[in-house]
Amino acid sequence: MAQPASGSSRTRGRASNRELSASDGAGPGAPAPVRLAAADRTAAPRSVATRPRLPEHVSEPLILIEGASRHYGGAVDVAALADASLAIWPGEFVVILGPSGSGKTTLLNLIGGMDQPSGGKIVAAGYRISGASPGDLARYRRESVSFIFQTFNLFPALTALENVEFGANIARRTEPRAAAVETLRQVGLGHRLGHFPHMLSGGEQQRVAIARALATGNRIVLADEPTGELDFRTGLQILELLQAQAATGRAVIVVTHNREIARVADRVIELSSGRIVSDRVVSGPRPSLEDLHW
Ligand code: ADP
Ligand code: MG
Repeated sequence: MAQPASGSSRTRGRASNRELSASDGAGPGAPAPVRLAAADRTAAPRSVATRPRLPEHVSEPLILIEGASRHYGGAVDVAALADASLAIWPGEFVVILGPSGSGKTTLLNLIGGMDQPSGGKIVAAGYRISGASPGDLARYRRESVSFIFQTFNLFPALTALENVEFGANIARRTEPRAAAVETLRQVGLGHRLGHFPHMLSGGEQQRVAIARALATGNRIVLADEPTGELDFRTGLQILELLQAQAATGRAVIVVTHNREIARVADRVIELSSGRIVSDRVVSGPRPSLEDLHW
């Protein structure tokens, strides 16, 4: 869980220019510092007004993005993401919504440290992502990020338990096997520990993939179209699981093109042609998962 802020809550409203502009040596070829100095962690997002209902002690965003862009070169320059700014807080269940090709995966990969922005700044879990070296990015991913993919990506020759234990090992959990068993129980698969992926249904495979991600214990959970391959009812179970993770203080970010899924989020960020076109906290009663239809 997030630690109480050392500064007053007023520091939240003040964007720290220092943090956002200087002293990071992030020019081409320069080694990127890994940890932010304590004084730099009071940076406030422009989108602070979108802060949802959070416990009082949560005082800094887990993810802060300022003017991030991602261009792909080649015969035609593609601006997959342009001038994106947002802050995501611990405990948020965020849906990033947009049609195919709108830049959702690009944004998620940047947040997850699997890619680097062409411009702008990204700070997550105390790590400076933009300009970081491959080694620093690997450490950030290992210590802070849990990935869930649409196509599960389980190791076919490993059992459910071994797949999940792999996740716990990557994150260097002290008791990886115990963490794996516990997490598989949490996702309702305590009775499938010895099953190989081909013996499991699609929904069960996705739950193993989620368990593998969660067994890392990492605070940033990223899911790219996690229900895309699943039937409706199984998809609901997956969403319920992800929702529950946010309630434990993790930040859960789900990417989807499916507007129905966005109805149960705490917050919905919409992308269109690589731009954030809306970012809103969902207020009022959320529909129950059973009321969704897709
Ligand atoms: P989404 O996940 O919303 O479907 P993506 O983030 O995958 O969208 O892609 C956004 C845009 O960037 C698309 O136009 C896509 O074709 C382009 N794009 C994505 N990855 C690459 C790449 N590696 N090289 C070139 N263009 C890419
Ligand atoms: Mg995508």
